[in-house]
Amino acid sequence: MELLKERILKDGIVIMPDILKVDSFLNHQIDPTLYRQIAQEFKTRFKDTKITKILTIEASGIGIALATAFEFDDAPVVFAKKGTAKTTSTHYYSSKVHSFTKGIDYDAIVSKKYLDKDDNILIIDDFLANGQAVLGLVDIVKQAGANIAGVGIVVEKGFQTGRQLIEEKGYRVESLAVVEAFRDGAVILK
Ligand code: 5GP
Repeated sequence: MELLKERILKDGIVIMPDILKVDSFLNHQIDPTLYRQIAQEFKTRFKDTKITKILTIEASGIGIALATAFEFDDAPVVFAKKGTAKTTSTHYYSSKVHSFTKGIDYDAIVSKKYLDKDDNILIIDDFLANGQAVLGLVDIVKQAGANIAGVGIVVEKGFQTGRQLIEEKGYRVESLAVVEAFRDGAVILK
């Protein structure tokens, strides 16, 4: 997606060896025009699929998922909350996730009320690194007995393992921009 790639090259900032900060347009301040175009691009990529629900994870995924939902006939958005699941709770699906950016483990939690076995779910997230957030969401959808139509990612870091791990499980991954490498603080896109 050209507009997104231009924006990453113009305003993305490489911090640490392998983290891209896109706070000025995606993750902190939000550019609504860009979000609309991201959503339209997801619709183009998944146009032949009837999506009944969009699943993401708080916080950065929510706005992207909501914009995308407008393109998919207002399919409801469900976002996994990050917390500590009480293992005794029968009201929630939960899955343990290792956070790439924070280096800690948390539970992704979704109320059983909001996922149905008849759902055809599009998983959306802002970044794909080692795939742990998406795999947590996949696990939750499987617990609900629902179907996964595919995974939509805004920025994939192609040098990390996420895509391979998700594709190995048989799911389709669509990324709107793929980072090939960070070199001397610069972003190299595919
Ligand atoms: P994964 O679970 O695929 O290892 O990492 C994806 C999650 O970590 C995303 O939900 C995103 O919030 C965060 N993340 C991973 N890499 C980056 C990055 O380079 N920049 C930002 N802003 N977030 C990232």
